[in-house]
Amino acid sequence: MYLEPLSNAVGVSGAEDEVRQIIRDALGDHVDEMREDALGNLLVLKRGTAPEPRPRVMLAAHMDEVGMMVVGYTGDGGLKFRAVGGLDARVLAGAQVQVGPDHIPGVIGLKPIHLLERDERERIPKIESLVIEIGASSKDEAKKAVRLGERATFLTRYQELGPTVTGKAFDDRAGCAVLIELLQGEPLPFDLYGAFTVQEEVGLRGARVAAYAIEPDAAFVLEGTIADDLPRKEDVSPTTALGKGPAITVMDRSFIADKRLLRLLFDTAEALGIPTQIKQPGIGGTDAGAIHITREGVPSAAVSVPCRYIHSPVAMLNLTDFQQTVRLMRAALERWTP
Ligand SMILES: [Zn+2]
Repeated sequence: MYLEPLSNAVGVSGAEDEVRQIIRDALGDHVDEMREDALGNLLVLKRGTAPEPRPRVMLAAHMDEVGMMVVGYTGDGGLKFRAVGGLDARVLAGAQVQVGPDHIPGVIGLKPIHLLERDERERIPKIESLVIEIGASSKDEAKKAVRLGERATFLTRYQELGPTVTGKAFDDRAGCAVLIELLQGEPLPFDLYGAFTVQEEVGLRGARVAAYAIEPDAAFVLEGTIADDLPRKEDVSPTTALGKGPAITVMDRSFIADKRLLRLLFDTAEALGIPTQIKQPGIGGTDAGAIHITREGVPSAAVSVPCRYIHSPVAMLNLTDFQQTVRLMRAALERWTP
């Protein structure tokens, strides 16, 4: 299971190198072809066992995570930054972070509560007003340590917490870990393409060119999606919940799932006795949004591991949900026909 190293690895959009290397090492002995395209997508092929011509199925998971980009320095050695992707400003102040390829540790500064004016207590600080401190005492020192354009992300280590695990970037390292397990399994009759995509969090950019290159007959997107089954006063139908099985998307902001693939997923889950949940429609988007409108259209579906607290310093998922997602996908692929 690769979730731990993948979660600990740093890979903010456009700088997914560490994540890509872990996946290369994991799959080297299990696939027939492996290449990196111009944008940095890692595209692998596991050839099918049926005679040619064989249909092509694409499985996609994005390598990138939301984070920060260093855009300037303050006079006293702080790093100014901007968000890369949908970063939540509420969770930044006071966070521990790591900066650049050398993982330089830092903290995002925070005005002590003693000094806050009454109205400041009600407001979320703007990202533009926050600064990362790395212990540099001058602009020159900060410049030597960190170059403009370098990325920063939360300094969070993976840990086990009962039946759940916590870590950063489960969106979408959970999907990457599921995809690795599928590609490490036995070959299927058709050609199985794994696309580990870049820059999903800034607009599904890697998936667009990956789908164009692969030209698949069907696509499944593997995600770590929102679970908002948090303690609260009344039931307001959570998007998904932890421990209730893989979440299948029928419709989100980016696409409507293919009816045939949905039937395949639900029938397979029923046959295997795997619990599933339907992700509440209308929220979020995935790489499927780009893939399904590539070339002449690609029947697509998205299957997710529910994760609490995504896009924050620490997310949480249930390991049984993770394993059931692998089982469901494996069995659905075995039953898939063009
Ligand atoms: Zn995602």
